[in-house]
Amino acid sequence: MTTTILGPPDRLAPGQAATELARLLAGDYPDAAGRFGPFGGRFVPETLMGAVTRLDRVARAAFADPAFRAELDRESRDWIGRPTPLCYAAGLSRAWGAPVWLKREDLAHTGAHKINNALGQALLARRLGATRIVAETGAGQHGVATAAACARLGFPCRVYMGSIDVERQAPNVDRMLRLGAEVVPVETGDRTLRAAIDEALRHWVSDPLETHYLLGSAVGPHPFPWIVREFQSVIGRESRAQMIERTGRLPDAAFACVGGGSNAIGFFHGFLADPRVALFGLEAGGRGPGLGEHSATLSHGRPGVLHGTYSMLLQDSDGQVIETHSVCAGLDYPGVGPEHSFLNWIGRVRYEAVTDREALDAHAECCAREGILPALEPSHALAGARRFASANPGAVLLVNLCGRGDKDMPILAREAPMTGPGGRP
Ligand SMILES: *Cc1c(COP(=O)(O)O)cnc(C)c1O
Repeated sequence: MTTTILGPPDRLAPGQAATELARLLAGDYPDAAGRFGPFGGRFVPETLMGAVTRLDRVARAAFADPAFRAELDRESRDWIGRPTPLCYAAGLSRAWGAPVWLKREDLAHTGAHKINNALGQALLARRLGATRIVAETGAGQHGVATAAACARLGFPCRVYMGSIDVERQAPNVDRMLRLGAEVVPVETGDRTLRAAIDEALRHWVSDPLETHYLLGSAVGPHPFPWIVREFQSVIGRESRAQMIERTGRLPDAAFACVGGGSNAIGFFHGFLADPRVALFGLEAGGRGPGLGEHSATLSHGRPGVLHGTYSMLLQDSDGQVIETHSVCAGLDYPGVGPEHSFLNWIGRVRYEAVTDREALDAHAECCAREGILPALEPSHALAGARRFASANPGAVLLVNLCGRGDKDMPILAREAPMTGPGGRP
């Protein structure tokens, strides 16, 4: 088992941030215990240790196997539609006084970056010899991506989803069912994403050999944060090459939204080694900074253990994990991936909160000026980019547009109604 460090991480010594970043870039993190500096690890019941260590071993072998890489690349191209385009945002650039580039993960199959990880892990599940897949889902995007990957590769699939989300996200439930998945509403706990993860973990504990748990973000016990990052790092690799090809340079600043942190970590990894690219993770600031009003874990959290990993966490003064709020379900999670806590600790990435209102405004602006209806999650990244542009005119900006907004139409109708023909939000 891993050693338990439950106190706050040590303050950085002078020069330590650079050393820690070098360790990450050299591949020393995550270490054998799944640590990124003080964060990460695998806090799982003894009954799961065999499954997580086997997953680690099989994943390492797969990533080193050219045949696995070739199959992942072929399916990414033919079925997901990779590479996704890099798109110059002329309208936003004019309005913000800064060149803005969008990485179009919204054009990936099933409408978001989630599919990169779902496909990759489903291919890993084959190598593990698993006979079925379980997953959790919040807004339903990861459930849809997993259901699609399972249909493609012939796995039976069960998706745990909080009963509140089943109600809020009915169209995605229907999509999962049509793709052949079984959807199990979770009535325990907060009846949203957190409870769905608890339930999926419980299922995995009861059947760790036949079942692969296809976790949807860069959270959970090691090796998940690392595996998910590896499958999502295609976003950063492509973005970097496309920026150089199209503009002959790297961006001054790059922006991604952070829920559990999978799209952001994959995107950031393309630029971590370039000290001149400022990196920004935008969290859900919700209705404001009060406890329970937001999901801005790195802006307001304290370290603790949730879902098998030691990371920053939103908790009350007794250390109880609190219920969170965001206008978008995809960011509504009280924890965050351990690698983000690490990058925040060493200061390589800046994490800022964006309120519901700011995200809705950025959403409307992207619709009107670009003819792109983004998801509410990347609208947080757009709002962060707009904020940066107003303080840094002319800076070259890159935004990970990690999903399309069709799933958000019911929320948009409620939160930003069109007031009639020709009306405005
Ligand atoms: C699920 C989701 C997110 C949040 O998940 P991360 O792991 O933080 O990327 C963000 N955007 C979209 C479009 C999503 O579907």
